[in-house]
Amino acid sequence: MVQTLPRRVADERPTIPILTASEVTAISAAALDEARKRLQQIEAVPLDQITPANVLDEWDRATIVLEDAFGPISLLNSVHPDKSVRDAGDDAIIDESSFVTELFQNEQLYERVRSVPPTSISEKQLQKDLLEAFEDSGVALPTEKRARFKEISERTTELAQEFARNIRENDTRLTFTPDECEGLPPSWLERVPRDENGNIVVGFDYPDYIPFMTNSRDERARKRYYIAYTNRGAPRNLEILDEIVALRKEIAQLYGVPSFAHYVTKRRMVENPETVMKFLDEVRSVVTEAEMRDLAQLSEMKGENINRWDMLFYRERLREKRYAIDQEALRKYFPTSAAVSWMLDISERLYGVRFERVDLPTWHEDVVYFDVLDAESGGFIGGVYLDLYPREGKYKHAAAWPVRGVSRKTARQPISALVTNFNRDGLTHDELETLLHEFGHVLHGILSHTEYNEHSGTSVERDFVEAPSQMFEEWASRLESLQLLRQHCPACPEIDESLVKRLNAAAKFGAGIDYGRQWLYAVFDMSLSGPAPRGALETWSEMEGATPMGYVEGTAFPATFEHIASGYAAGYYGYMWAKVIALDLVSAFGADLMNQSVGRKLREIILSRGSEEPARDLVERFLGRPVSSDAFFARIIGE
Ligand SMILES: [Zn+2]
Repeated sequence: MVQTLPRRVADERPTIPILTASEVTAISAAALDEARKRLQQIEAVPLDQITPANVLDEWDRATIVLEDAFGPISLLNSVHPDKSVRDAGDDAIIDESSFVTELFQNEQLYERVRSVPPTSISEKQLQKDLLEAFEDSGVALPTEKRARFKEISERTTELAQEFARNIRENDTRLTFTPDECEGLPPSWLERVPRDENGNIVVGFDYPDYIPFMTNSRDERARKRYYIAYTNRGAPRNLEILDEIVALRKEIAQLYGVPSFAHYVTKRRMVENPETVMKFLDEVRSVVTEAEMRDLAQLSEMKGENINRWDMLFYRERLREKRYAIDQEALRKYFPTSAAVSWMLDISERLYGVRFERVDLPTWHEDVVYFDVLDAESGGFIGGVYLDLYPREGKYKHAAAWPVRGVSRKTARQPISALVTNFNRDGLTHDELETLLHEFGHVLHGILSHTEYNEHSGTSVERDFVEAPSQMFEEWASRLESLQLLRQHCPACPEIDESLVKRLNAAAKFGAGIDYGRQWLYAVFDMSLSGPAPRGALETWSEMEGATPMGYVEGTAFPATFEHIASGYAAGYYGYMWAKVIALDLVSAFGADLMNQSVGRKLREIILSRGSEEPARDLVERFLGRPVSSDAFFARIIGE
């Protein structure tokens, strides 16, 4: 059973502080000071008196001090409505990153962590994690190389921030005439702003872009929007990405390994780039045919060759024609607030928790907060913030922030935040999946119950972290979970077996196209992280150019690829690698995704353990066997 902490009274609950710009700066500086003092105490422990308690426990406490400041700061950096707060966050995060590199280059600390005699699994794992972080930050490199490593880390942090900022703060507006908007649903036409000539004015938020690309009958208008959309970060982000790639290559050289991918993957489930490439080759051998088959059907529908800006439009027409599925009409089935209550409900049933809405101050009036309680004991587990709707200057995608971790040793309780950009009225089926995906990360954060804060929920290997989230997407596609939705919206149309079958058939169509794209992103990432990386746009136009739909002149997709500008470099393959695991985990539920005993077991064996043990060990313990990729490859083929 999972242990729980006693219920806290309301005013003791940990919350996200809503900081002003000057508070961000002050709190950041104070946290760095305090953490430095604590680490100096560890440094001062005589080598013959080292214990797990005076090194590892104290280390965890020092990093908790950092997290108390930088957990909230890194979230507010992406979502605070006030630009000055977001900008102050950028500066604070650079200071933190520089502090952390320095910390992991400290030989005195290295020596002390190395000398700890671990007595438990979590101590042993924490020691291993820290030693690896020391090695990866250059503690064993000669002084000059170590200094260069620090410079590179700081510069790449700064560049990744600028990359993200250029997209987040992009306020380009496009104008479309009413004719160009023919086919758009009335709800969309009523919502979007117009200029004095009655033309529609839109930006790059999902609720603007996706419905347009899915429904506008005007191919030229779709093409114009598509090209603008892929240029959200260009041209500056192309320069940034090239500089980042060159710096990463230099890191590989400092370590004397052939590529940045070698440097990164040794800490991942895959262990080396060869395993990644072997996996991606396997994917390609299956995906090529499936993609050609899907594209042929779309081209037939259009009556001529399909282009990239046609993709959403003709997929939707095919879904309508063949499966009688209309994404816009689905919003009636999945009103946003009902879908959120439903998602909390199925999480409660599966994992034995309870969500209680509490009014707390937040960074924006749209944001809602829930206490998470253990259903059995009523004990307080942690807190969840949901920030669901788009606004200016806010992060543009969907993501989960593990704002605060968990630690049994210090009775620390977790907070996670969900950030999305949904339509207020209702979700399409794709968006319902996105909601569940991100909430899968949130649950991983909230339900972990580890000894050390450093091992909290989503701190797992980067090529495992997308497994619990991609697993949870499946709850959007099964009758036993979906039929519970009506309990949260009695007026909504009923979701019956026939609709679920059609939804799944419609979702299956295009799997070849989707995985073909995922494969392309992954090989592109591996190429930029490879032994001889070239310019990002040059590499991309060549690689995309070799696919059936080719490269579209004037597009600059790499300038929007935030994943590889930040922590997912040499790691994008991890989505598919983790999908293999995700679908295998789903198979453990058999015919009933609402099976509570399997849910409880998953919580106990995998989610509660965070990164206390290697992911592979946890997964195999849960499955009772090694991972199988059968369900994954069947999904691509569309079986
Ligand atoms: Zn994810």
